[in-house]
Amino acid sequence: MKTLKYSRQRESIKACLMRRKDHPTADALYTSIREQFPNISLGTVYRNLNLLVDLGEIRKFSCGDGTDHFDYDTSPHYHFVCRRCGRITDIPMEAASGLEEKAAVHVEGTIEDHTIFFYGVCADCQQEGKRSAGGGRIKGGAESFDPENFQISS
Ligand SMILES: [Zn+2]
Ligand SMILES: [Zn+2]
Repeated sequence: MKTLKYSRQRESIKACLMRRKDHPTADALYTSIREQFPNISLGTVYRNLNLLVDLGEIRKFSCGDGTDHFDYDTSPHYHFVCRRCGRITDIPMEAASGLEEKAAVHVEGTIEDHTIFFYGVCADCQQEGKRSAGGGRIKGGAESFDPENFQISS
């Protein structure tokens, strides 16, 4: 019974991740999975996520924000990360397969995988920046508005 329960939870965690295209963190998944399993613990979610990663059924990556993100799509693909809101979206361009061969020339061991992140500002944040700059909500007018440091200095 115990293993059945655990695998049912694992399947639900997997199904929950499959429905999301936003590369959630374990905490974000925990919040959604609790709607289905109110008694599930964060530790159980973590354990099952890492098990699924070990099984190769899902992917785990870090894009520099200090937390792990999970991806249902295990095929090689790249990501765009918004520096303002932290949104991570898939880039449906073809993976550069030749890169690993090029890198292998400089590596003595074996290369198994590679990942690339593109960083910038997403369309929504760009719109937000324009609205803030043009709306007169910032004291001093548009000339003192520096979109690059707007978020960081606040
Ligand atoms: Zn954004
Ligand atoms: Zn992805």
